[in-house]
Amino acid sequence: MAGKIKEIEQTDYEREVLAKPLAVVDFYSTECPPCEALASKYTALSEIYGDDVVFVKIFRQGNRELAEKLDVTGSPTVLFYKDGKLTGDKLAGGILRSDIMRNLDALVGADRAEELHKLIKPVQTETDVVILGGGPAGLTAGVYLTQAHVDTILVDTALPGGYVATTHLVSNYPGFIEPQNGYMLSHYMSEQAKANGIKLRAAVEVNDVDLKSRTVKIDGFETIKAKKVIIATGSRPRPLGVPGEEEYRGNGISYCATCDAKYFQDKDVVIIGGGNSAIEEALFIAKFAGKITIVHQFDHFQANKEAQKKLLAMDSVEVLWEHEPREFKKHGSSDMGVVVEHLPTGERKEVRTNGIFVFVGFIPNIEAFDKSLELDQWGYLKTDAEMRTNIKDVFAAGDVTSKQYRQITTAVSDGTIAGIAAGKELE
Ligand SMILES: Cc1cc2nc3c(=O)[nH]c(=O)nc-3n(C[C@H](O)[C@H](O)[C@H](O)COP(=O)(O)OP(=O)(O)OC[C@H]3O[C@@H](n4cnc5c(N)ncnc54)[C@H](O)[C@@H]3O)c2cc1C
Repeated sequence: MAGKIKEIEQTDYEREVLAKPLAVVDFYSTECPPCEALASKYTALSEIYGDDVVFVKIFRQGNRELAEKLDVTGSPTVLFYKDGKLTGDKLAGGILRSDIMRNLDALVGADRAEELHKLIKPVQTETDVVILGGGPAGLTAGVYLTQAHVDTILVDTALPGGYVATTHLVSNYPGFIEPQNGYMLSHYMSEQAKANGIKLRAAVEVNDVDLKSRTVKIDGFETIKAKKVIIATGSRPRPLGVPGEEEYRGNGISYCATCDAKYFQDKDVVIIGGGNSAIEEALFIAKFAGKITIVHQFDHFQANKEAQKKLLAMDSVEVLWEHEPREFKKHGSSDMGVVVEHLPTGERKEVRTNGIFVFVGFIPNIEAFDKSLELDQWGYLKTDAEMRTNIKDVFAAGDVTSKQYRQITTAVSDGTIAGIAAGKELE
């Protein structure tokens, strides 16, 4: 094991951790992508802080008794100790380098931390292609590039997988008869990219992206310079800012009718929104649901008139005009509640339902990029047929691009085209 790290068993815990003035412990597992993402950060930080803080690794599955005693339920989990007592944050999942550093700085004190920060050496990495975003689009581009022997680094601010990793079941990805667990589907995609030799920088902070010089600075110390850039950062649902929204996302609250409407055959559904996408999606959901309640803030829809007429003519559709959601609740599996407020009177009530769909728009993840990128009227990146943006050597793929349909298959298709086109240009 490189760096100043000691691998120990639970029997050594008292001597190697509790008896030391300052210690940090990483509970890890094998076949654990977030553990892999953490490993290089942990090693690099042990080289900087390792003379002051004891860096320890403990294999979680082999040391269950200790893990359970410390309430360590997942891998990786990083714990910090001062004079034998737990202190600071309990870090888990896709752990950021800056979060570990913040806790280490607190252990060593501000003055020593300042001295140690001076030991961090900037790293310059050259590559053929840097891909920003490791969802289906970025991972597919990575597979095509690496299979063509193009040196490729994929940078993701989270763990690779994108939305698929958080989707419960995916039933429309070709090649599988049974619906697939989204986490596993995305895991296979990233393992395939890794098997082909992609270099991952996962759960990193992207500090700066200069598309014109094709440089990406990550985690405050590494600058990646590439010949081509592929932007595959996806989009995110526009938040309503309502309690329960984050908690029940993908677990009672859906943002995709194509993906989830089929699970609501003859069931009750609440739809939030009243624009074009809400009405179009409501028409699709109406093929399945027994009852639809639309919660809309105005006294009329702002959608296509024909679509509205069709929807309002359905017996199964009720509209709560001039209402806004104030809270989402979960009472049990398939038993959700939406607290809505009637805007003119301020009166609140709870609508019970089997599932909630939110269609108030998506936001493309482009904040980190050059303002001279050409966008469509909704803020998505415009590309040509080979996924080139208007900036030379910069491609875009997946949900972040301007297009009609955003699905895993369309993201994979964009990634394929961007990967092949970028690779060809490098030949
Ligand atoms: C709840 C939900 C369920 C869905 N279910 C289905 C389904 O069943 N079937 C289907 O076909 N489609 C489904 N979709 C749509 C599908 O998930 C997307 O179309 C697809 O994931 C888009 O892939 P992508 O690679 O473009 O983007 P994403 O999957 O969004 O991946 C983007 C990646 O970029 C990373 N990133 C963001 N910003 C940065 C940055 N600045 N730098 C570096 N990395 C960054 C993110 O961490 C993420 O990993 C669903 C979508 C949602 C929201």
